[in-house]
Amino acid sequence: MRIQELHHALADIGARPCHIGRITRAWLKGQALDAGTRHQKSEDYFPLSVRRGLPAIAGRLEGLARIRSRHPAADGSLRLLVELGDGQMVESVLLPRDGLCISSQVGCAVGCTFCMTGKSGLLRQLTSGEMAAQVALARQLRPVKKVVFMGMGEPAHNLDNVLETINLLGRDGNIGHKNLVLSTVGDPRVFERLPQQPVRPALALSLHTTRDELRAQLLPRAPRIAPAELVALGEDYARRVGYPIQYQWTLLAGVNDSQEEMDAAAYLLKGKFALLNVIPYNSVEGDRYQRPSPERIEAIKRYLHDRGVLTKVRDSAGQDIDGGCGQLRARAAEQIDLSRLRRRASTAQGQE
Ligand code: SF4
Repeated sequence: MRIQELHHALADIGARPCHIGRITRAWLKGQALDAGTRHQKSEDYFPLSVRRGLPAIAGRLEGLARIRSRHPAADGSLRLLVELGDGQMVESVLLPRDGLCISSQVGCAVGCTFCMTGKSGLLRQLTSGEMAAQVALARQLRPVKKVVFMGMGEPAHNLDNVLETINLLGRDGNIGHKNLVLSTVGDPRVFERLPQQPVRPALALSLHTTRDELRAQLLPRAPRIAPAELVALGEDYARRVGYPIQYQWTLLAGVNDSQEEMDAAAYLLKGKFALLNVIPYNSVEGDRYQRPSPERIEAIKRYLHDRGVLTKVRDSAGQDIDGGCGQLRARAAEQIDLSRLRRRASTAQGQE
């Protein structure tokens, strides 16, 4: 269900725009649709046809997504495995300090070589309703004041739904525009469309390296935009909206953590209206990539900082619980496959 369909369904039961606004806000707060306000009960506000029709609509919204499992981590984050109406699964992460990271696709077509989600390819797009439902579900557990589109998927590949969700959250979801963060590998469509939106979010750009050819290897199906051009586009957007770009740099030992890379990063980002998030890779057993040593990570941060690049080291939230993007889903999908195989095996045995 897209947000527009929700609004049409509400109009069909007799809701006027003011009713639709109140119902949508209640949903996004994680409350019952007929929650009412402190000053006015819903029975004094909604017409009878709306009150009668709301339970069916609430049922449809509940069917969009449900929390299949919760995985608290030592850093205060809470990773949620969210099951969609058709049984597909995505991840949302409640971050410390009232943030929420949501998914925009099941799987992803970009195929970044260091990302578990990229391994599955794109399975399907999420609707705007399914993205907003992740916020509604998360708010049943904790306050959410910031939403980042950095979970599974490349938001630029599902841009209509993502922008619809951003506009909804900025208008009815009580989230400041700069606290909505769209993360992308850098798709020209993002730079064309974002400035025209009523709600203009902050932007996170996945840079990962300053070298064209290495970027093409690490992000095999990302649009071919040279890192310097990407930074120029980012800078233009940051100056227009008045909040900085967050550049993402997944740090892979021996791949993109060399001194030459850091010199080039300092040259590219110095003086930019930007913040560099260095995200040391979260290695799992048998991985082709490794996490740099804590000393190297600290040295990189200090080096860039000293050269005028605001640099933060960020760990993938909830590292101790399969923290990399897509790892929980991959594990759950594995378990489902295993139990299907076991079921098939026992049925086959029963038939022998
Ligand atoms: S890192 Fe992001 S863009 Fe790359 S494959 Fe994973 S989900 Fe897609």
